[in-house]
Amino acid sequence: MYKGGPIYTPSLVKIFRYAGLLSPVVLTVYGILIQFGYIQTAHLIDIVGFYVLMFWWSAVGILQFIIPNKTKLDSSLKLIAYHLLIGAYLVFISSLSSPLIASWLLLMMASYLLFSTRGLESSILMFAAVISIDIVMWRDVIPTVMNYDLVALIVVLLAGVIALNIFRSQEVNKNDLNKSKAQESLQRDRVSTIVNNMTDAVLSTDMEGIIRVYNAASLNLLDTNTSLNGHHIDEILPLADQKSNSVSLFKELQAAKTVIKRDDLNYAFDDGEQIRLEITYSPIRSSYSRSKKSETHDGYIVIARDVTKAKSLEEERDEFISVTSHELRTPLTIAEGTISNVQVMMEHPDVTPAMLKEAVNTAHEQILFLASMVNDLSTLSRAERGVADSTEDIDVRELAHKLHDKYNAEASTKKLHLNLDLSPKLGVVHVSRLYIEELLQNLLTNAIKYTKKGSVTIIFEQKGDKVNFAVKDTGIGISKSDQAKIFAKFYRSEDYRTRETSGTGLGLYIAAKLAHKIGTKITTVSRLNFGSTFSFTLPVKKEQKN
Ligand code: ADP
Repeated sequence: MYKGGPIYTPSLVKIFRYAGLLSPVVLTVYGILIQFGYIQTAHLIDIVGFYVLMFWWSAVGILQFIIPNKTKLDSSLKLIAYHLLIGAYLVFISSLSSPLIASWLLLMMASYLLFSTRGLESSILMFAAVISIDIVMWRDVIPTVMNYDLVALIVVLLAGVIALNIFRSQEVNKNDLNKSKAQESLQRDRVSTIVNNMTDAVLSTDMEGIIRVYNAASLNLLDTNTSLNGHHIDEILPLADQKSNSVSLFKELQAAKTVIKRDDLNYAFDDGEQIRLEITYSPIRSSYSRSKKSETHDGYIVIARDVTKAKSLEEERDEFISVTSHELRTPLTIAEGTISNVQVMMEHPDVTPAMLKEAVNTAHEQILFLASMVNDLSTLSRAERGVADSTEDIDVRELAHKLHDKYNAEASTKKLHLNLDLSPKLGVVHVSRLYIEELLQNLLTNAIKYTKKGSVTIIFEQKGDKVNFAVKDTGIGISKSDQAKIFAKFYRSEDYRTRETSGTGLGLYIAAKLAHKIGTKITTVSRLNFGSTFSFTLPVKKEQKN
């Protein structure tokens, strides 16, 4: 399809096609009015010539209407035909002084539309030619014809210049428009790139809550790959509060006057798995809707993020702080109360030194307990912050002897045997020294603490490429129901024999954390009244061949 000059647009072409079809009708009516003497003109030469002209004109008019211009040649042939037909009409039928001179203006515009400035210049030149022919033909019949024709030329030229300027300004507007359109699409591309690269899910809905735009992260969050477009936000994102009551996000959106952030809502997958979402939403107010100065807006935007992990960590930390402060308060209160009692007792003459000693001992025990709890807490915090994450080669046999040396005396004071049971071949493990030592010490101190008679055995065995670390005792044992709970923080068995000993309930909790840190898990085998075995395995470091 021929694309035409700079102002060529399909709508303008359509206007000219209709004008081309209508022009023979108008001019035929005008011609008939001349024939019947309703309009006076000296130009009409021959009635047959008039009908022949009108026939051809109508034929061209219909033809150009039915068959759109395909090539440059097509367009130029049709334009030339129109120029010739109108020229002949003006010279032989209506005269140049008739109002139909305006039809030349249409011709000039059509020429500019199809062939830009060159087309317009050609049309003007042809008009000058028509005027020349008209003057030559009619100057003997009508002496004033030259004046009329020159005035016609000036009027048409003037109108042409004005029309050309209007077109040109339109052209500039069109260029500006194209430029701003290009900029707009660039901006749109930029924004959509940013939105699509965001890790948060971004969804926008219309006023009815129907999803219109969403980014790739939305599909990831909802674990789907089907299109969300056209679905209702409540259907795609059914939410529930912490009490499992369902929450309509659309109702929340409608109620939102400004940006709102909530992190107390859950989303459930089809398989029942729930995630905690942090949702930020707000009505979308575009510059258009703002300009209306009303409360209206264009829809809603929803940004959602999975905060399940962060929330559970946060809740765990909050709970830990509250339980720890509670656990610390008990010995503190006892110690403080006992010491203030001692102050009062010292003023009293009846109080014997033995009574004072007993009270001071009680306070001392509580302070020692506090110290051990603070010690446990700092070990825990060290492990959680990963300050001792660096690993090193540890000779398993050496480690066993070191532990035996350290705890032998403590076991002896309780008349317990601390045995070593090591396989002949024991290699090297590559872990954090602090973590493995702390972990085994916790198991050993418990074993000694909860064994009244018999023995505690350190059993380190190498099986294939793994070393099994175990601490076995012949102590009070742990009931099946307690075995499920002993790794929880601050948990201590209700067994009276446990209650006879002091303890923070943090030892095994820390041990489990440390085991996790070094990539293993503690296994418990225990029988009430018969003893317990706590163990874990680590891979042996492969010997490097030189
Ligand atoms: P604590 O020893 O300070 O009470 P732990 O977290 O080390 O805290 O242990 C939790 C509980 O597990 C203990 O209170 C005790 O009831 C039980 N337990 C741990 N180790 C043994 C063991 N070797 N024998 C019997 N019971 C044990």
